[in-house]
Amino acid sequence: MEMAVLAKSFAQCKISNYSVGAAALSKSGKVYLGFNLEFPGTCIQSTLHAEQFAFANAFIHQDHDIIRIAVTATPCGHCRQFMAERSICDITVLLNDESEIKELKLLEDLLPLAWQGSEQLSTINDSCEGIMQDSFAPYSGSKSACVLHAGSRSYSGVYIESPAFNPSISPLHSALVSFASSKLNLVISKADQLPESRDWDLHADFKDSIDRVVLTQVSDCQINQFGMCQDIVNSLSPNIEIENKQ
Ligand SMILES: [Zn+2]
Repeated sequence: MEMAVLAKSFAQCKISNYSVGAAALSKSGKVYLGFNLEFPGTCIQSTLHAEQFAFANAFIHQDHDIIRIAVTATPCGHCRQFMAERSICDITVLLNDESEIKELKLLEDLLPLAWQGSEQLSTINDSCEGIMQDSFAPYSGSKSACVLHAGSRSYSGVYIESPAFNPSISPLHSALVSFASSKLNLVISKADQLPESRDWDLHADFKDSIDRVVLTQVSDCQINQFGMCQDIVNSLSPNIEIENKQ
């Protein structure tokens, strides 16, 4: 699928210079593009992988039925775990820029005996108001949301939790996915509506456009998104202090 190769052209990988693209097909027929995001000056765990970006792109558009994903590089173990939790079953791995299918794999072949949660890991039923309600935090109960303000426009994202915890996607990451998705048209409804390939610099665009970042978390949450989110915002635009609300 050439869409994953197109997505790769937008990758923001100033640390590794290793670009990866992904294209996730939903049951609805829409395709959600994704690419890797890296943030110089922050901890390495703050990176977002292309497969997670594509999934988050679908999630923030209220589409939860990804059935197949094409990736320009073999998925790492972290992403295999993330996709196993989401029951994404078919994975197409592409050769780098050739648009040539290298291998079609089922996820169960890539990750046999996948861990999908433990009986000891109980899920929490909680509710909260506003955008945080769309957040997925059934294990910690720590729902959170982040809104990037750009003048009269805004881009919002929510926390997307993983049962394995570490592959979880922070609300800032999904807000950045929303920002990139809107800027680059990363949701494809028809094959002839592909976004134009162009040079794009997340850091430059963020610095030019975003004037406020608001993080909202449930009170008494077991985890706190603020520290990592502020580190990433510092990497993108050193003058913005996150407004941290509960
Ligand atoms: Zn990965």
